[in-house]
Amino acid sequence: MRHPRPRIVVSECLGFRPVRYDGNMEHDETVETLRKYADLLPVCPEIGIGLGVPRNQLVIMKSDDITLLIDTKTGEDFSGRLERFTETFLNSLVDVDGFLLKSKSPSCGVGDAKVYGRGKVVVARSDGAFTRLVRKVFPLLPIESEKRLLKYELRRNFLTRIYSIADLRETLSRAGVEDLVDLHRRNKYLLMLYSPRQL
Ligand code: SF4
Repeated sequence: MRHPRPRIVVSECLGFRPVRYDGNMEHDETVETLRKYADLLPVCPEIGIGLGVPRNQLVIMKSDDITLLIDTKTGEDFSGRLERFTETFLNSLVDVDGFLLKSKSPSCGVGDAKVYGRGKVVVARSDGAFTRLVRKVFPLLPIESEKRLLKYELRRNFLTRIYSIADLRETLSRAGVEDLVDLHRRNKYLLMLYSPRQL
């Protein structure tokens, strides 16, 4: 059987271009493997809003109920620009099946970006500014970081979901009833494994 090629948005610093604030990028084994079996769509939100390389580090600052994305040296707030870029970017995506983003980044982090309060104290961990909007716009798609995918269970779950979603997407684009029946037949045991009731 031919497997569909999932379309995955990936943080650009994970092996595509040295776009990190310090001029580096990171090698990631999962991304390298996926290059052969998926269509990867690299994006760097901080480059997207016009920042250069190298650049000052950004951090998430929270004061009362307001969350900002602040330049650590100048104090400039980039949250509005990043939000506008992310909205435009996400709205331009066609046929996307998941997101693989850089851990701990104030823009791309997946639940582990440091949130600073008054006095430069870390008060919480959260999604980065880009990831927060991704979750809003694509609440049903898998969103993971390269660090979380080092755990076998999370990696298996992510891969299962992106390939299943890509399969469903391709099947729906053909829109024949027979194709849907075939999709259900092929995935019967997988669906049963996750939810016998919903099968
Ligand atoms: S973590 Fe995201 S914003 Fe930071 S360099 Fe990588 S792609 Fe760009």
